[in-house]
Amino acid sequence: MTTTLHLEGKRGVALLHDPLLNKGTAFDEAERDALGLRGLLPPRVATQDQQLERVLENYRRKESPLEKYIYLISLQERNEALFYRLVMQNLDEMMPIIYTPTVGLACQKYGHIFRRPRGLYITRRDRGQVKRILQNWPHADVRIIVITDGERILGLGDLGANGMGIPVGKLSLYTACAGIPPAQCLPIMLDVGTNNATLLADPLYLGVAEARLRGPEYDELVDEFVQAAQQIFPKAVIQFEDFGNSNAFRLLHKYRDQACTFNDDIQGTAGVTLAGLLTSERLTGIPLAQQKILFLGAGEAGIGIGDLIVEALKLQGIPENVARQQCWFVDSKGLVVQSRTDLVEHKLRFAHPHAPMATLLEAVEALKPTALVGVSGMPQTFTEPIVRAMAKLNKRPVIFALSNPTSKAECTAEQCYTWTDGRGIFASGSPFAPVTFNGVTHTPGQGNNSYIFPGVGLGVIASESTRVTDEMFYSAARVLAGLVTENDLKLGRIYPDLNRIREVSLAIATEVAEVAFKRGLTHMLRPADLKAHVEDTMFDPTYPDYV
Ligand code: NAD
Repeated sequence: MTTTLHLEGKRGVALLHDPLLNKGTAFDEAERDALGLRGLLPPRVATQDQQLERVLENYRRKESPLEKYIYLISLQERNEALFYRLVMQNLDEMMPIIYTPTVGLACQKYGHIFRRPRGLYITRRDRGQVKRILQNWPHADVRIIVITDGERILGLGDLGANGMGIPVGKLSLYTACAGIPPAQCLPIMLDVGTNNATLLADPLYLGVAEARLRGPEYDELVDEFVQAAQQIFPKAVIQFEDFGNSNAFRLLHKYRDQACTFNDDIQGTAGVTLAGLLTSERLTGIPLAQQKILFLGAGEAGIGIGDLIVEALKLQGIPENVARQQCWFVDSKGLVVQSRTDLVEHKLRFAHPHAPMATLLEAVEALKPTALVGVSGMPQTFTEPIVRAMAKLNKRPVIFALSNPTSKAECTAEQCYTWTDGRGIFASGSPFAPVTFNGVTHTPGQGNNSYIFPGVGLGVIASESTRVTDEMFYSAARVLAGLVTENDLKLGRIYPDLNRIREVSLAIATEVAEVAFKRGLTHMLRPADLKAHVEDTMFDPTYPDYV
């Protein structure tokens, strides 16, 4: 898409201070004259490439990841096009800064590193005013909203209003990975308080310093938001992000058939993990239908993955009750089995008849899984005996240590390869560096949701779908798995190179849009060349000519 931004009468300093329009030293002579910029910029006109060289040099000079994060956010606040070109050209290097793991650290310190506001804040005090707040947003054509209430930020728990870093970072990925134009993205913090005692006692905390709102008042506020968002931004997808699991499942269940909405922690994670399992078939020779998957952690991520596996198997013709038997869960109280009386609703559908087991090791030995998926947020829980037991049971054990950030991973890549004698098929939530074991270098795959949600979002937006369905996530997983090359597999990587993310997102978006048309979820006429249509909506961060 060529950028067609309207200056809306902006000139001079106002233009330089608008990050969506600003080109900085790249305003040319004619633009400087016509737009009242003469004298406000150093005389030498630079190209965007020259600016890139400068910002990359500055970025690399920063020593800590947090400093790099602050630098990138400041650049985004000055010049979005330059920010996106920089990030898109150095995605491998910068994704761990603008998203997990560094964004987690940034959220923990949000009140201390705060520079400028970004996004909208809706608080419990705004009951009855939510529509007005949404109307304060300066861009009318919002197509994607990411909203959090900050209760479960990555694996870091309740960070209250500091969680704003997550919608901001996530939306940057929507643009960098799938080309959703920045002006169409709206980050929202639903600040309902926090139960984090450290934050409540911190004088620099920026959120509402009260205990979390619960019960009907909370639900009414969320409801007011969903209604208002549908009225003010009727074409927007609403993505719920990092809500605590007692609310996440409920809200998804409540709104998925009423609004164009999804929960990335539940459904996006499921998509990327399913893609990893589908790809693993090519290495293990065991089709998904014959896999037995044991999860450590039965929360949003785990149950979401289990549900999507069941959906995938159903679409492959396997009856639901049989499909469910392939997924087993261990939570903080042990194996999830029918005889337990302490199970919350979302675990019940995976509670099978079996003797209780207290530990993961016992469960591995009893159930003989082909794959182990860690989504517990508990570091170092895939211990040596557990991983060795998996290696004894399977020629190619599948070990996914998905908990974020890196410090929470169930095991490291090195541990997995060492304890499985290099036979493990490993994926993690946060990135790990390649590992050389017995002379062979393994490149661990990152089961990063960014392979899935940007493409799904783009497909939903481009098709103007009114709903986001599980079938879309299943299609996205299949497309993603299909893009893994033989060379990726040789390197030990079960996901495509991250540098192919725009191609990946476009392919996923096209398939997702296809589902929307096939299922009658849109009023749009299907464009003859769907892929070209989707591609045409994608943001291009090169500068437009204003004059
Ligand atoms: P959640 O709070 O909803 O669920 C956590 C689950 O882990 C709960 O069922 C809890 O009972 C269980 N648990 C806690 N301690 C345990 C222990 N010692 N042994 C066994 N189980 C234990 O959280 P979630 O949203 O499901 O996320 C869990 C983790 O997965 C987080 O670290 C998150 O960062 C990670 N995650 C990764 C990705 C990804 O890499 N693609 C995506 C989403 C979530």
